[in-house]
Amino acid sequence: MKIQDAVKKLNELEAKKIAYGHAIAMLHFDGSTIAPPNSFEGRSKTISFLAGEVYKNFINKKTDELLNFLLDNKDKLDKITLVKTKENREEYDRTSKIPIGEYMEYMKLQNKANFIWEKAKKENDYSSFQPYLTKIISMNKKFANYRNPEKPAYDVMLGDYEKGYTMEDYDLFFKTLKERLIPLIREAVPRAQSIKDDFLYKDFPIYKQKLLIEKIVDFLKLDRDSFIIAQSEHPFTMGINKKDVRFTNHYYENNFTSAFFSALHEGGHALYELNTGDDLIYTSLGTGTSLGMHESQSRFYENIVGRSREFINHFYPLIKQMFPQQFSDVTKDVFYMAINKPQNTLIRIEADELTYSLHIIIRYEIEKLLFAGDVKSNDIPGLWNKKYKEYLGITPPDNTRGVLQDVHWSQGMLGYFPTYALGSAVASQLAVAMAKNFDYKADIASGDLTKVNKWLNDKVHKHGALLKPKEVIQYACGEAFNANYYCDYLINKYSE
Ligand code: ZN
Repeated sequence: MKIQDAVKKLNELEAKKIAYGHAIAMLHFDGSTIAPPNSFEGRSKTISFLAGEVYKNFINKKTDELLNFLLDNKDKLDKITLVKTKENREEYDRTSKIPIGEYMEYMKLQNKANFIWEKAKKENDYSSFQPYLTKIISMNKKFANYRNPEKPAYDVMLGDYEKGYTMEDYDLFFKTLKERLIPLIREAVPRAQSIKDDFLYKDFPIYKQKLLIEKIVDFLKLDRDSFIIAQSEHPFTMGINKKDVRFTNHYYENNFTSAFFSALHEGGHALYELNTGDDLIYTSLGTGTSLGMHESQSRFYENIVGRSREFINHFYPLIKQMFPQQFSDVTKDVFYMAINKPQNTLIRIEADELTYSLHIIIRYEIEKLLFAGDVKSNDIPGLWNKKYKEYLGITPPDNTRGVLQDVHWSQGMLGYFPTYALGSAVASQLAVAMAKNFDYKADIASGDLTKVNKWLNDKVHKHGALLKPKEVIQYACGEAFNANYYCDYLINKYSE
């Protein structure tokens, strides 16, 4: 085979995979936004049919030989083709090392477990979910062993969600957070309880919230020709390619902050997808490189920008103009304090910036014990509650608000949670690197994000998945990941 022919074949293989992926993504998007409830069954059938086609198209001897041939000739490949080849090789191995029968069994288990979890959460019934969780953990362990018998299973899982990260990285990361943040949290949370925030839970007509979110879209400079907003139960962002990016939001009549900060958060995800390099469009590399790096962008716009004094100074007059009665006696300082009020809460997704990582640490520590075999799944609720008491000083009154609150474990996403905390920390490190180049806070204060966006485009977005997460941090910041920037940021902000 000639090199050019092999490269052409690789591109054809990717084009097919991307086309199927596009179709499956649209079905998911439709299902989460406007499809009627009864469409579920038919859509599941179509998705599983298409997923089967993706599998057949990709996992076969021809692909295996093609990828090997390209890797044998890697010196002759350009950078994009080489990275594409390596990514496809990894994906191939990840999928093909698991016997197809067991994989199908796992798919079925996942569907069932998710269904059972939803019911268990509603009915505060951990015991009905527990056998499914046990099975999910044991199958994931087995799969991790098939794929890489030399590595601890949990490291394999962590690497799936954040390439290049292992327990060693996260242990150090969380140790730093615990040492530096817990004393601050112990001090700041009780002190903050007198901060007034009841005005955030008045009546906010949804049509007006939507108008305000249009202003956020303008502020972020999201390209309206390549981007839309829809509505769903939980906000999410989907990037089909850089010319077709969507995020969703969820509006509550009695809550100002939820949709507002979700828009800034999802807007950050959207900017990443919209600004991946032109040279990567319609390839597997034309997307964010990892969950953690994606979260660094969403947290950057949500927290570093959105919860800063500079942004509130700039944006609050507009908020007040839109909701004059609701905020009639609220100054911008009072508003700023309210949206940054730290609290020990039971629910991860409602947690503030300061206490958020403790929720992640609890989940990480439990997952680690589960994979090491040091704890059984019937001990999880007790362990969960003990850790909430230890870290946050509160005990969940039931499992609905405790161990059953998150969807992740029911879908087999073990090793996913740490990427959330990692993203927040990377956002702080990027801000420090940005500040060495220009006074980004002054730009936020003046309401012009042109330079901020440009810097993130150059350092992060345009590389798409061409660089691995650790390489992006090194490139953007000139040094490796360091959790201390995140601690410095939080300590500065909350000791104020
Ligand atoms: Zn996010």
